Amino acid sequence: SRLTVGRGSPKDLGAIRNGLDAAENIYATLLHIKEKTLNNIVGKLKQNNQQKELTDLLKKALEDELPFLERDGGFIKEGYNKRLDELRALRDNSKRHIAALQAKYREMTGIDTLKVTHNNVLGFFIDVTARHADKLMVKESDSVKDNPFIHRQTLANNVRFTTPELSELERDLASADDKALALELELFNQFVEKTCVLSEDIGRVARGLAALDVALSMATLANELNWTRPTLDSSETFIIEEGRHPVVEAALAKQTEQFVPNDCDLSQKQRLWLLTGPNMAGKSTFLRQNALIIILAQTGSFVPAKSAHIGLVDKVFSRVGAADDLARGQSTFMVEMVETAAILNQATERSLVILDEIGRGTATFDGLSIAWACVEQLHKVTKCRSLFATHYHELTALQERLNAMRCYSLAVKEWKGDIVFLHSVKEGAADQSYGIHVAKLAGLPENVITRAKDILSRLNSGEQSSALSSLSHDLPLFAQTPQEIKTKSIVEEKLAEINPDALSPREALDILYALKGDLED
Ligand code: ATP
Repeated sequence: SRLTVGRGSPKDLGAIRNGLDAAENIYATLLHIKEKTLNNIVGKLKQNNQQKELTDLLKKALEDELPFLERDGGFIKEGYNKRLDELRALRDNSKRHIAALQAKYREMTGIDTLKVTHNNVLGFFIDVTARHADKLMVKESDSVKDNPFIHRQTLANNVRFTTPELSELERDLASADDKALALELELFNQFVEKTCVLSEDIGRVARGLAALDVALSMATLANELNWTRPTLDSSETFIIEEGRHPVVEAALAKQTEQFVPNDCDLSQKQRLWLLTGPNMAGKSTFLRQNALIIILAQTGSFVPAKSAHIGLVDKVFSRVGAADDLARGQSTFMVEMVETAAILNQATERSLVILDEIGRGTATFDGLSIAWACVEQLHKVTKCRSLFATHYHELTALQERLNAMRCYSLAVKEWKGDIVFLHSVKEGAADQSYGIHVAKLAGLPENVITRAKDILSRLNSGEQSSALSSLSHDLPLFAQTPQEIKTKSIVEEKLAEINPDALSPREALDILYALKGDLED
């Protein structure tokens, strides 16, 4: 592309050369494999004679390492163009002659420290220290032959001269350099032109290589990660057996943990799954893995599952996570609703929708009502295959009225007061969210956890609204600061009582034994 818009560099020509050359080798290697899909791709790699000639030309003409800027020159190989070689020889000779002049002038003047050197202002010049300058200065009696030195510049410690011979060599050098560069640029432009003429053919080969790259990458994944070939048809089926989330699985594998595979069946009669279960159990992972499996399958890839039968979907919609867009005037909840609106307005019967916790950005009852209505809409109007994760356990009651809706949940096990996430999806609704357990795992202060458990048991014990109102009127409870709620341990209480300075070692030991005894009781 850069070459065709006149912004290409020798490096780009090198890339074309290397690319076409590699494509030719790949073509020759794969040509004999008889496999239909592969042959379709390999067909694109076939190059015509002009392309092959271009590759040969670029291989012959261009250096292996190439500059980014053509104006730097030096990218055409020696031996490719006779005139260029001559100009370069002239240039190099001039350089050599100039170097030789230093020896000649040292001998002529007897000044061992005389140097022929170069800077950007003066070009080449002869440099001697001020002490020796007089020797080179022209006297009236001197002829040019006796004294060819022409004064150019006097500095504090040095004096600089030139000679007609040095100037002439410098002119030769500059012109050989300019001519060589001009010739290189001319050749560069010719190569660019030749390349651009073939841009369509080169593009075709590039697309063939890209397709091969994708196919190879997918095949590598399928092979290394044990993926399977999905069955795709125009039915409305979606049956995944032992599906996995490729990214979470890979992350867990790094910590030598196993991913728990899960089935999913969104056949017509159960096309909407309402997924409940504790926080951190794997609801989002399950939703996303199924969406990913569809996308992978429809891009032509194998999928991370034991088996997959997928009726083609026209669109995959997802509403997951929480984000705001404050700069554009949208709060978190607004973003959530805008996305939900887009899904409900655009999804068709052929779409797959995953919705993760709709309505949690607002008041409990508003959120529940919105989630409720969304489930009904998806079931009755959109009628698409959907996975709907929620913490509103009240929604599971809808199963009685919505005949194609099924309740599934993520299994957990309670063990010694803690919960263990099993990450397996099973039929049925979850009874609670274990949010407080997760809050504890996350490191919320102990007193906050204790208080939250207390409030939860009150809310669970009575009718919710009355429990809420009684709680809010229960001012002393709410007025307590977190520190006050914390109860002191036996050890803390005892320590507060004693004065260590007033204790004998024997008494201190007795107290220690008593405390230990208390703890063991
Ligand atoms: P929340 O309700 O808090 O959003 P969630 O139920 O959506 O939680 P995920 O975010 O899907 O839970 O998963 C939490 C973590 O559990 C993941 O980061 C992953 O490490 C682990 N996990 C999820 N699914 C599995 C699985 N099938 N096998 C093993 N580990 C899993």
